[in-house]
Amino acid sequence: MDFNWNKEQLEMYQQAVSFAQSKMNKNLIEEDRESHFSREKWHALGQMGLLGLTIPEEYGGLGLDPLTSAYTLEGFGYGCKYAGIFLSLGAHLWAVETPILLYGNGFQKSQFLPKLASGEWVGAHAISEPDAGSDAMSMDTRAEFNGDFYILNGRKTFVTNAPVADFFLIFATTNKKYGFAGINAFLLEKNTPGLSVESKTEKMGTRTSLMSDITFTNCKVSKENLLGKPNMGFRIFSRIMQWERALILAPFIGSMQRQLEECIQYANQRQQFTKRLSENQAISHKIVDMHNRLEAARLFLYKAAWAFENDDPALPSSVAKLWISESAIQTYLDAIQIFGGYGYTTDFEIERSLRDAIGTKLYSGTSEMQKMIIAQQLGLKTQ
Ligand SMILES: Cc1cc2nc3c(=O)[nH]c(=O)nc-3n(C[C@H](O)[C@H](O)[C@H](O)COP(=O)(O)OP(=O)(O)OC[C@H]3O[C@@H](n4cnc5c(N)ncnc54)[C@H](O)[C@@H]3O)c2cc1C
Repeated sequence: MDFNWNKEQLEMYQQAVSFAQSKMNKNLIEEDRESHFSREKWHALGQMGLLGLTIPEEYGGLGLDPLTSAYTLEGFGYGCKYAGIFLSLGAHLWAVETPILLYGNGFQKSQFLPKLASGEWVGAHAISEPDAGSDAMSMDTRAEFNGDFYILNGRKTFVTNAPVADFFLIFATTNKKYGFAGINAFLLEKNTPGLSVESKTEKMGTRTSLMSDITFTNCKVSKENLLGKPNMGFRIFSRIMQWERALILAPFIGSMQRQLEECIQYANQRQQFTKRLSENQAISHKIVDMHNRLEAARLFLYKAAWAFENDDPALPSSVAKLWISESAIQTYLDAIQIFGGYGYTTDFEIERSLRDAIGTKLYSGTSEMQKMIIAQQLGLKTQ
């Protein structure tokens, strides 16, 4: 890997920092308290091009490669204190747009990608179900094929963006007996009859990224809205999860960098017992550990992003997801400790970062699932 960024990449990073600082950070305490998703900020993301990072220009995107996208998102995360948007944006980019780009036909790409990349639409993807979480492929949502249409019945849970989504990527099985081979992926607009978005799910963090269950009652979906070929759903799911795992946490690298810098500044300036906090090794070593964890996380992110064009991303994407999520949580915990009682207050905005980070160990596959994938990739016999 070449560790030198070129001029275009450096510009993308800087633009993302400035954009996030000027457009994303207003009213965050109130929006978090009220679980408010800001359409205004979403549209600004679209105008900036961040909703179409890897989408080709012909569909309204920036057409960036995965590594440049990761670096741009790192810059966005450095400037942005609104971590709920990391989740909404990540789900939209990697689990809705990317599958259409990789598996959609010409009509689907030209019909859906421009609206998603511009910010006119918010996208959501629905895999998890009340009884099928980590074991997602044991899903019960049925898709019965009658020649021209699929009829969907079932319930999906924990669907990020659902309360504000205009567009859904849904996974369902045509026959549970076929296991992985019966899974299919469908593209649905929000007003499709039989699709119902349930009430908003209250949650601990990422409260500005809304979530709910969705249900299907005899929901009629044209065969034109099948993504990829019949029964290709598991292949689509496996591939897009690699993209999501590799890249969804990229903004946390920038966010951790900002947190590290704020901790250094605070430790150098705050005095107790007539000396600076930084003069205590208990504090300076905590910050050194924070730095080293972040540096490893950054390299894992770049390696995973780079692998999409140069290697097999299966192992690096899970390594990156696991390490960045655990590092982010530890970083914000340490930051609260360094800031003492102030760190625990809402006004300092570190407690929100911690709450927002905890979900990273759960979505896109839990930390336990990432370890299972890594073990399998290492050749361990896990079953
Ligand atoms: C903030 C957030 C956003 C989300 N967004 C979406 C979304 O947009 N779309 C969507 O479809 N889903 C979404 N999810 C759901 C998410 O993918 C699931 O929560 C996750 O896959 C785990 O499933 P579960 O919650 O049912 O836990 P379970 O699968 O019931 O697991 C419970 C615990 O047991 C552990 N466990 C389970 N099986 C094993 C095993 N074999 N070995 C070791 N440990 C095991 C798990 O790691 C976990 O710690 C989101 C979740 C969160 C928290």
